[in-house]
Amino acid sequence: MICLTIDCEQWNLAELRGNIFPENNNTMFSFLGNEKLLYLFDKHNIKSTFFITGFFAENEKLQVKEIAKKHEIASHGYSHDYWKNKKLDIEKDIKKSKEILEKISGKRIIGFRSPQMQFSEQLIKSLEKLNFKYDSSLHPSFIPGKYSNQNLPIKPFKPFNYEIIEFPAAVFPTTRLPVSWTVFRNMPSAWINSAVKGLLKREINPVIYIHSWEFIKFKRRGVPFYVTAQTGNKFYRKLENFIKYWENKGQEFCPLQQLI
Ligand SMILES: [Zn+2]
Repeated sequence: MICLTIDCEQWNLAELRGNIFPENNNTMFSFLGNEKLLYLFDKHNIKSTFFITGFFAENEKLQVKEIAKKHEIASHGYSHDYWKNKKLDIEKDIKKSKEILEKISGKRIIGFRSPQMQFSEQLIKSLEKLNFKYDSSLHPSFIPGKYSNQNLPIKPFKPFNYEIIEFPAAVFPTTRLPVSWTVFRNMPSAWINSAVKGLLKREINPVIYIHSWEFIKFKRRGVPFYVTAQTGNKFYRKLENFIKYWENKGQEFCPLQQLI
């Protein structure tokens, strides 16, 4: 089983870098990307987990209801800045998003992924308090300036003695190099496939994450070139080839809740 998971949020990558533009915090890029993903997933009969922000859900209620009919809805916080905004009350932000998502989807929300993959003991403690069952905020890799998690597990585990199950994002099992989003887009398919193969060989279900907005081509403003390189239809075709490749090898794609 492979978990192809989607992070769906308001566009704030430019804002996180201190750049103010009219398109900041719009939900349109992710909305349009979701339309493409829903079509692709239907075509291949794939079920996925969509980690959605409360802000996106409030603004795109109908689409979230639509996604909930076939896929798992999980929380991606409300504000989508767990990195730069040090004053943010994370527990409050998670609670707010959970309530909004449960109301709109009509389903219980049991999964969480932190914006900017900010894994911490405080986060896990809050998730347990708020009755979540799993988290997928750990990137067990080394990304300079952002996090250094290369000594943490790459397979599911219970962090800090809590009952929450952690599903780490997929990395190369030995080198710990990343494979998700911008890497998935900008590296050759053989690179991604070899990481997936290495994880499956160790009986680890690869948890890959990509963003809804990556399937839309839009004018890049205030973000480095690699953030939006190879987005749009190019990435759609690449993802479809990835799906076909693993389907031909007998792999199934499932939402994270199915692994519990
Ligand atoms: Zn995000």
